[in-house]
Amino acid sequence: MIGVVGGGIAGLSAAYRLQQRGHEVRVFEASDDLGGLAAVYETAGDPIEKFYHHLSKSEETIVELAEELGLGEDVEWRIGKNAYYVDGVVHPMDKPWEILSFPHWSLYDKFRLGMLTLDIDVRGGVPSFDTYERLEDFEDVPVEQFAREHTTQNVYETFFEPLLDAKFGDRKDDVSAAWLLGRIKFRGERDILKGEVLGYLDGGFGRLLDALVEAVGRENIETGTRVTDIDTADGAVTGLTAERDGETTTHDVDSVVVATMPNVLEDLTGYPCDIDFQGTVCSVVSMDESLMDTYWLNIADEAPFGALIEHTNFVPAERYGGEHLLYVARYIQSPEEDVWQQDDDEVRETWLSGIENLFPEFDRESVNWVRTARNPRTAPIYERGYVDMVVPYDLGDAVAEGVYYAGMASKAQYPERSLNGGVVAGYECADRIDGRADAATDRATPTTD
Ligand SMILES: Cc1cc2nc3c(=O)[nH]c(=O)nc-3n(C[C@H](O)[C@H](O)[C@H](O)COP(=O)(O)OP(=O)(O)OC[C@H]3O[C@@H](n4cnc5c(N)ncnc54)[C@H](O)[C@@H]3O)c2cc1C
Repeated sequence: MIGVVGGGIAGLSAAYRLQQRGHEVRVFEASDDLGGLAAVYETAGDPIEKFYHHLSKSEETIVELAEELGLGEDVEWRIGKNAYYVDGVVHPMDKPWEILSFPHWSLYDKFRLGMLTLDIDVRGGVPSFDTYERLEDFEDVPVEQFAREHTTQNVYETFFEPLLDAKFGDRKDDVSAAWLLGRIKFRGERDILKGEVLGYLDGGFGRLLDALVEAVGRENIETGTRVTDIDTADGAVTGLTAERDGETTTHDVDSVVVATMPNVLEDLTGYPCDIDFQGTVCSVVSMDESLMDTYWLNIADEAPFGALIEHTNFVPAERYGGEHLLYVARYIQSPEEDVWQQDDDEVRETWLSGIENLFPEFDRESVNWVRTARNPRTAPIYERGYVDMVVPYDLGDAVAEGVYYAGMASKAQYPERSLNGGVVAGYECADRIDGRADAATDRATPTTD
């Protein structure tokens, strides 16, 4: 039997692939619900993810999985409009003419930013087309130094710095330029007349998780069951210990796939991982009316949240019983931060007064409900040297033969952690168990592929 630790998308994908190839699998999930970070709330219509989710056009493995599970027709590609809030004004930032009319940049600022996004290095006045090909060349370059040199001081201060503040807080100085370049390349496709093309699953990504659970078989999945130990003998895995309602059981296993955050891997196997993670406090606010015209609003002004994401400007409100759903989210760098310390009512007050400051016409009477999710580990800090800290899929040499890792610290989750990355990581472990891939490809060597 192969044991899978964690019933998020990575663990379920690993179990699905292994079972398809004839292995007996058993998934152990500590919480009462499956789905991990992709778990959902019920609404008056379709369920909604507790944390905002969409796909980028470059993410193909998850689309193939949806097709295999009979959901291919329901993957929809929609326009997710982006805007930037600066000095009390929402600036749409999708179409070339919107970017050209952004009043906080000179023509030269726009030219330098445009060239960077087109992968053309114009420093020194001579265009170079291959500077950004090898991301590893930028692994040790601080993101701020890179952005100032490869665009302009003003673009850094009015654009990159507020975004980095929102995403990494005071850890932004640690982030590598390779991450930024990887992110620019990862973004996928734009419709020049409409904006960024993003994917969603009609009915929510919970449907994909449900279909995976059905394919794996509910009888092969134990919820409310925390794996507390992995046993080895003579350099190979032999079993795992799981605890449910205070009762402990041991299971013989031939292999085990750990599909959790790396701190759980360390507790179970002693394998150390130095990647730092940040947390998130994220609420879904249901409103009678729409707040803004855009899907994704980045904020350069003072606000208690990093971004406002109006989901129902991406997916129609009719799917949620006509309610307008807004995500309000903040990344947390330290448990000392006020928002992390606040209870749900206080978080609600913090968010609503923050929205009132940005949008004086916002009427809190239009709010139906607010539901808040928080998790202390939701995204890695992609700091300099990150790729050397990535956890290999095959931990045969480092821990014991038969131990594999498919969690968020794996190669598939760089330069951005995603549902697709979870599927890929699960499949990569399945391939290694079957001898279809080898450890030489485990490290997160950054490439432009
Ligand atoms: C705010 C936010 C926004 C995001 N936006 C997007 C997006 O737009 N697009 C996108 O594709 N992705 C997005 N993601 C990322 C995506 O949600 C994750 O990459 C993905 O869900 C990770 O899946 P996973 O299975 O690796 O981990 P998880 O979902 O964390 O699952 C791990 C599971 O392991 C369980 N577990 C832990 N310890 C044990 C144990 N000892 N025994 C048994 N079980 C255990 C946990 O309870 C959990 O269910 C976002 C995430 C967040 C937080």
